[in-house]
Amino acid sequence: MGDTRILSEVIKKVYEKNITNKTGNVAQYIPELAKVDPEPFGIAVATVNKDIITVGDVEKKFTIQSISKTFIFGLALDLIGPEKVFQHVGAEPSGEAFNAIELDPVKNVPYNPMVNAGALSMSSLIYDKYGNSSEQVILDFFENLCGEKLSINQQVYESELNTAHRNRALAHLMNGAGIINGKVDEKVALYTKQCSIEINAKELAIMASTLANFGTNPYTGKSVFGPITARYILSVMFTCGMYDYAGRWAVDVGLPAKSGVSGGLMAVVNRQIGIGLYSPRLDNSGNSIRATKACVHLAEELGLHAFEFTNKGSSMLDFYI
Ligand code: GLU
Repeated sequence: MGDTRILSEVIKKVYEKNITNKTGNVAQYIPELAKVDPEPFGIAVATVNKDIITVGDVEKKFTIQSISKTFIFGLALDLIGPEKVFQHVGAEPSGEAFNAIELDPVKNVPYNPMVNAGALSMSSLIYDKYGNSSEQVILDFFENLCGEKLSINQQVYESELNTAHRNRALAHLMNGAGIINGKVDEKVALYTKQCSIEINAKELAIMASTLANFGTNPYTGKSVFGPITARYILSVMFTCGMYDYAGRWAVDVGLPAKSGVSGGLMAVVNRQIGIGLYSPRLDNSGNSIRATKACVHLAEELGLHAFEFTNKGSSMLDFYI
């Protein structure tokens, strides 16, 4: 644990720069998400040395949505192994919307685990292994990632399941293509449950710091997944994590990251910090506007870009704490 005053000042400044931005809209296509309060904004930074710096609404709960995809990909890799996992998903950016009803036409698998098709395929592998216990396996895993008790938001779950027509279409497409092996309804339900797990920005930052720390939660010391799995996850986050803004994000921020339609965003500085942000108003790609801008500013202020020439980011804890 160290002196976090400089880092705290930078994070506060970035928060203040973005709190007045009220552009964008909350997600509309899931009825329960369309009702959320658009105002909360929180930024949390968790270091691999167990310091946590927070500003704003970091305790406000929201559903994890697509951010779960990164970790479920990791869970599948650890439990089932890369060989089988990569028979069921690719690692190429799709260039299409996250819910596009398509498979890679050459390989006949979903493009990557960050789009809905790929995420459904990963949840299906977990269901094939654990059946009705899968929900508990997933919940335990997420609890270990952040070291807190978590629960599923039942209203969001039901609301999304009732309107999950595209995800059902995708799951049936993959069932026909031999990627999903039956039990389509159960698997769509499992995926929807994993998306409905409630977290806050602080817990998200700790989950991200577990990635920065190669799969070991720095706060509990528990190994949640292996270091090679962490490398797989971060690589796919880097190329595919920010919907169809992933390329420009790599230019502007240069960090592995994943966002979700409820307004959460997680970014990782390898070996250093995890960042968790929440603000529900989204841009046209589905990314939180304030959270995205805050990351651009944090990367600029702290030199976090992976290809930053000053190389501050890769040893930032020595610079700032
Ligand atoms: N549960 C959402 C869906 O399947 C997740 C989408 C997202 O956050 O990108 O549409």
